[in-house]
Amino acid sequence: MSRRIGLPVLLALAAGPCESGGADLGGVTVSLDAYRGPASVTAELEAPFRLRLAVHPAEEEGALVIRVVLPKTGPRAWPAEDVEVRDSRGEAMMVRRAGIEWARLLIPVPAVAASYVVRVVDPRAGESPKPPESARIIMDAPTGLRLGIARWYDGRRAALSIRFDDSHPTHLTRAVPILREYGFRGTFMVNPGAAEPGSRRRSDFAERAAEWRALAQQGDHELANHTAHHRDAKGDEEMEAEIGDAARAIWAMTPGKSTLMALNLGGGTFWETTRNLRYYLDRYHLFDASGNSTGMDDSYGDRVGNFRRMLEQHIERGLWLRVHYHYIGEGLSSSEANFRAALDIAKAHQSALWIAGMADIHKYQTERESARLTLLGSDDARLKFRIACQTDPELHDQPLTLEITRSGGLDASRVAIQDEGGMAVPVRDGDGTGDAVLRFDVAPSEATYSIEPKP
Ligand SMILES: [Zn+2]
Repeated sequence: MSRRIGLPVLLALAAGPCESGGADLGGVTVSLDAYRGPASVTAELEAPFRLRLAVHPAEEEGALVIRVVLPKTGPRAWPAEDVEVRDSRGEAMMVRRAGIEWARLLIPVPAVAASYVVRVVDPRAGESPKPPESARIIMDAPTGLRLGIARWYDGRRAALSIRFDDSHPTHLTRAVPILREYGFRGTFMVNPGAAEPGSRRRSDFAERAAEWRALAQQGDHELANHTAHHRDAKGDEEMEAEIGDAARAIWAMTPGKSTLMALNLGGGTFWETTRNLRYYLDRYHLFDASGNSTGMDDSYGDRVGNFRRMLEQHIERGLWLRVHYHYIGEGLSSSEANFRAALDIAKAHQSALWIAGMADIHKYQTERESARLTLLGSDDARLKFRIACQTDPELHDQPLTLEITRSGGLDASRVAIQDEGGMAVPVRDGDGTGDAVLRFDVAPSEATYSIEPKP
């Protein structure tokens, strides 16, 4: 290693993921970016999710850039969207990150002896903790009923989202009509900013704005925030405009709908801001949807076979599979034949899959995790319960599916469910998995229901 860095960091780098000794940075790596010279940086993990950096300039006079890479998975993963960097006076530092790599920080600093703190600001501090999984189940002896919140909407075993990036014309001409043939919902990450003077970048979106508006208003597909122009932002103001302008453009096309949507800052982009990502997510009702997605461009090789394997794994494990496409058509990122072949596989597994928009799935997950079922009372004729979600019903408007089972079976025609106003709630038979299961949907809010199994 020709780069000269401080000893503790050197130990941490050498130790890698299996830590040893006193240089444990909890899986974080720290170095000077693209640097060969006398300066060095040392690091110390002062507390969980609180790292102190110290710059030792030696004879260096030029500017330095500290690179901090935070672990993204495993028990020591940092919540990268909540990370900020402060100098010794407590001032927020400008940090540079690539659009889809928010856990890799580049921090420009002067070559002076100084220390900085990289830390997580807990956005949920003061909020009540999420109820445990057991709070979403009621087992009732008098009625013999078991009530629970389905893992995914309609009791499907897994969720699938199909994303399309960059508001390309083939999304309107190919992807949307083909998805409609299959009856699948897509998520379209658009760049709705107008073409910029002096920029060579066209705005495919602006050229077809009326078609995009019609798509948004039809509502069978979801639009999501891919920033206004798909380019870098230097500073808080530009970043705010790139994210905020895109959010406002999409909101204007979908009046009266929930303003919550997915955000992907885009590959190949760089973002410089003093703020953590959470600031932008909260301000514009966004969630970060850039990670954990499988690219479906033909150039990655055997996309159809890979999709089949991943889909089957996700169904087996009850997880959310996210895939994304760029342009659809011959000679483009994905051929129409390969696109259709993947959709055919999804179709073949459709009874096990909730194929939905990324915001739909995110809402369901968030609502469910914040929900609690409480038994209010029961006798052999009736069970009364309350559901309470902590999510904001204006943003989180995805219905939750409740499931009822009883040993010995249940028949939908012989179960009556009522809301607190006495209105009948439609109930449906499950998909015949052997155990008779009945399902009904409820709004993700606080409400009381009664269940009457008739003899
Ligand atoms: Zn993109």
